[in-house]
Amino acid sequence: MNTHSLPEIAIIGRPNVGKSTLFNRVLGSRRAIVGEQSGLTRDRHRAEAEWGGRRFVLTDTGGVEWKSSDELVRLIQDHALVAVDTANLVLFIVDGRAGPASIESEVALELRKRGVPTFLVVNKCDSKSIGLDATEFHSLGIDPLFRISAEHGLGVADLLDVVIDSIREVPVDDGPPVEVPTDGDTETEQPPMADQVDIAETPRVAVVGRPNVGKSSLVNALLDDDRVIVSPVSGTTRDAIDSTIERGGKRYVIVDTAGIRRAAKRDSFAETVSVAIARQRMRGADVALLVIDAAIGLSRQDVAIAAEAETSGCGLIVIVNKWDLIAIEGSPASDWIDELRHRMGRINWGLFAFVSAKTTDGVASLLPLVDRVCANRRQRVPTGPLNAMFESISRRLDPYTGPGIPRPKYLTQVAASPPVFVVFTGGGKNSLAPEYRRFLENRLRERFDFSGTPVIVKIRRGHRAEAPSGPSRGGASR
Ligand code: GDP
Ligand code: GDP
Repeated sequence: MNTHSLPEIAIIGRPNVGKSTLFNRVLGSRRAIVGEQSGLTRDRHRAEAEWGGRRFVLTDTGGVEWKSSDELVRLIQDHALVAVDTANLVLFIVDGRAGPASIESEVALELRKRGVPTFLVVNKCDSKSIGLDATEFHSLGIDPLFRISAEHGLGVADLLDVVIDSIREVPVDDGPPVEVPTDGDTETEQPPMADQVDIAETPRVAVVGRPNVGKSSLVNALLDDDRVIVSPVSGTTRDAIDSTIERGGKRYVIVDTAGIRRAAKRDSFAETVSVAIARQRMRGADVALLVIDAAIGLSRQDVAIAAEAETSGCGLIVIVNKWDLIAIEGSPASDWIDELRHRMGRINWGLFAFVSAKTTDGVASLLPLVDRVCANRRQRVPTGPLNAMFESISRRLDPYTGPGIPRPKYLTQVAASPPVFVVFTGGGKNSLAPEYRRFLENRLRERFDFSGTPVIVKIRRGHRAEAPSGPSRGGASR
């Protein structure tokens, strides 16, 4: 375990905007400053923090003087602000009482150019009126924008809720507390970018399902294929062996292949624990292949595993295996899909594949299907089409709103892999009906191709300025 496995969040901003106040507030009494360096990064502080059960490393970039844009660009290029370049998310803090400084426009431009996922945080909004007219900050072109008061704790919880949503896709392991280096130069302190990109681009595939459905046969069929190079690598949990497949220049990690083979021999015990095993295997995976036995069909346990895939933010492909036993009876796959979708209930967004691990029929189609699910899962909807969709459905709100219920005002995608959308509402005594989330998810699925991936919709009240009118960028994922 090391810092590679925790998401990195960097707080940046001009001196005196309230960076360290926010840093301390997030860390609260558990504050543990563990890194202090000399020179340019003298005041940089790093510590592990937690919110909503999600751990991350927070870096306060502290006392870097933003004297001129040229200098700032040079600093970023020199990796003096390596925290910014390696962060999974940047919180760009500005002073709500001061309005945007020209250097902030330059920094915003630089962040956009570099594609650094950024939230704009307007601090010192101590009262409702301060910074309310955040229009001037919209000119920075960073979306989403939050109004907070770090000193008084206003809006900080809401900000953190969205922050942890947006870092969901960063793989994390539940190891012992992270050791953050306390010394050394900044170049070696951070994981190199190339590593992160590599890891992020190799899909992690979890093969799950009840005993005897053919999981190990399927994994063998995938691994034994002669176009495949097998290279076992050690996994993240003890005893787990992941296998890396390489095909057509692309790599895929099959999670816990040793466990798959072992579980097959545990018959009745494995039956009871198959949901728990699936849950463990799917944690941190990108796509789950849920194997079912065509001769038996879909069981309640299978539906429970599919629900776990959604909870883990994992894509889902339901693999109807042993199709060799059914195909000879001439049962068309299309009939099966309708029936399976119906029985999957809420988790009806999974894709289906019909294969025989025994004859290997259909097995070759699986990795392309994994690619498709990963592409949908990574998808970022541009702001324009998203706004257009949101406007087009605003007339259909009546079942979800009523007296004292805030109306949804603005929808933004804060993360990908899996896609997370946040709908902001105005204030009000009551909350928007929870069914609205489902309604919105369905509309998003109708309009954009999210087949095979969970789509997470969150509702947030207040503490956010109106929708920006200027250019916008995505949210928080690489
Ligand atoms: P940094 O240089 O960006 O790390 O800024 P600091 O966290 O040291 O804060 C600079 C000054 O702004 C301090 O005097 C803080 O007390 C003050 N400050 C920070 N947050 C707030 C806030 O939410 N409201 C107000 N009014 N002052 C704040
Ligand atoms: P696991 O417990 O899910 O890993 O299942 P196994 O891979 O051990 O397979 C259980 C049994 O189903 C074995 O006897 C396999 O030979 C058989 N089996 C697996 N896949 C197929 C298939 O596609 N067709 C047929 N007819 N049998 C299969």
